[in-house]
Amino acid sequence: MNRGRPTVTSSLDLYSSVTERYNVLLDLARTLTSTLVPSALYEALHQHVVRVLPMNAFTVAVVNRAGEARTVFQAGEGNGAPLLGAVEMEHLRAGDFVLRGAPGDATALLAAPMTCEGRLIGYLAAQRRDARPFDATDANFLLAVGQLAAVAVENARLFAEVRRRGEEAERLEAIARDLSGSLELSEVVERAANRAFDVVSKPVVVWLLEGARIRAVARAGGAMIRLGEERLLPPASIARLKAEALSQPSIPANSAPHAEIPMGADGLAAGARDHGRILVPLTLGPRLIGLFAVGPWSDEPPDPDRIALLHRMAPHASAAIENARLHDEVRRLSLTDPLVQLPNRRQLDLFLEKEFAAAERGRPLCFVLYDLDRFKEYNDTHGHRAGDVALIRFASVLRAETRAMNLAARYGGEEFATVLSGTDLAGGRAHAERVRERCAETFGGEMTVSAGVAEYVREMRTPIDLVVAADRALYRAKVGGRNRVCVAEL
Ligand code: GH3
Ligand code: MG
Ligand code: MG
Repeated sequence: MNRGRPTVTSSLDLYSSVTERYNVLLDLARTLTSTLVPSALYEALHQHVVRVLPMNAFTVAVVNRAGEARTVFQAGEGNGAPLLGAVEMEHLRAGDFVLRGAPGDATALLAAPMTCEGRLIGYLAAQRRDARPFDATDANFLLAVGQLAAVAVENARLFAEVRRRGEEAERLEAIARDLSGSLELSEVVERAANRAFDVVSKPVVVWLLEGARIRAVARAGGAMIRLGEERLLPPASIARLKAEALSQPSIPANSAPHAEIPMGADGLAAGARDHGRILVPLTLGPRLIGLFAVGPWSDEPPDPDRIALLHRMAPHASAAIENARLHDEVRRLSLTDPLVQLPNRRQLDLFLEKEFAAAERGRPLCFVLYDLDRFKEYNDTHGHRAGDVALIRFASVLRAETRAMNLAARYGGEEFATVLSGTDLAGGRAHAERVRERCAETFGGEMTVSAGVAEYVREMRTPIDLVVAADRALYRAKVGGRNRVCVAEL
């Protein structure tokens, strides 16, 4: 349907400028709906607006939820500083334009709001210095542009947000995969530190909570901490970290360093107050198991979005750490005798296997078998429970007499064993002799032990040969009257 030309045209000039403005708005609508990159969006806004609104400077500002304006695009003159005062911002918030400058003024300014669902999300501002102020037609035009722009800017923001979340989800998934890829606690905390550093690009230390203390177990990004270093974590800090874990991920903007954590010159955060440090809790349900300490930094503070991502990564790290711990615990239990809390036969076999291989390469190796004397009698006299206690006490003697590099184990029943690496027959006998004496002392003569000592010799093919040799020596000790040590005869 042809509506014909506008009936009232006081001047051809006005007519052409109205048409031109209309065309610009149409063009702009077309361009904006096909643009999702903010910078391209702002550029397009500028290029279209200057076609009908001659100016010296064009500014696009966005307004955050706190109402703070930030210049995101500037063409022509201008230094990016906020242009409008509080009262003018109020005008924009009400959906009005702002017009500054009377005829003859050095600078004229026209600003129009970008409003989305009743909220001011930004504004457009044009400035010119040629003593020709903007008029109401200009203002209406910029208001219309502002409306178009608001939708496009909001779309672009939403699109960027969706993409960012998608990327973040992918990243978290990759991190979770990496963290769950190992059941070795040391490896898991190492990976947690490295992935945390990837996320925040600042030094990271992983601390694990042990009672009221935290211990540094891994670090990345040049964090200056000795691994194994311990700190006291005051109850106030624990409470605060737990609260943060529950309220996450809202920390970033104002995450103040935890000043209450002792951070001495040699400690967790030398100069923490100067440079800042952020603690991200590692929790399992209501239980705090550790924390990521991010920082210190001397340059830029970490990006709040990255800290938020670290908060989202924390549960994955916590779960992986707990899995590794459980795995450790299950392994420990499966290798430990439940009554006397010494390594069991399984662990003994594994250890002996390794040491036997080392012996084959030339390292001395001694194996001692112990058997409590007349233990059946002891049980019969004092009761089975007292027998258990005696086993526990003997285990303590054995433990105390065995160096860390060696292994003391419960072989089974009232039989025990020690694997003495780097020890020859004389050394093995001395060791067994000490255990025998300590046992007699401990039990005030009420309980004694016999021992058989064997040394690795080249004729032995498997660890069993070594055990058999020790068992034979033990047998001779029993036959010889008990409470004595015999060494294997070659
Ligand atoms: P010998 O001097 O010849 O070694 O005599 P013994 O009585 O110690 O040897 P024997 O093998 O006849 O008896 C071992 C006893 O150890 C029998 C068994 O009931 C007891 N025993 C094995 N395991 C345990 C345990 O876990 N707790 C208790 N209380 N007794 C145990
Ligand atoms: Mg026995
Ligand atoms: Mg016995």
